[in-house]
Amino acid sequence: MADSTAKRTCRVCGRTYDYPEPGSLATRTACESCVSIPKDVRRALSTMRSRIDRMSREIERLKSDRPAS
Ligand SMILES: [Zn+2]
Repeated sequence: MADSTAKRTCRVCGRTYDYPEPGSLATRTACESCVSIPKDVRRALSTMRSRIDRMSREIERLKSDRPAS
């Protein structure tokens, strides 16, 4: 087991992947399926993903604030 390989989270789609993985084109910040997306688009997608993450957390927080009826 090489300890240089780590689980990373793709900043574009949010999935976890191993990095570095032999034969994989994945980079430090993008998984193999997102690495071919143009950099500008990737940046826009990662901005939206972090917004969605934030909103999801906020929704969970609001849901837990009010008792289920
Ligand atoms: Zn990805």
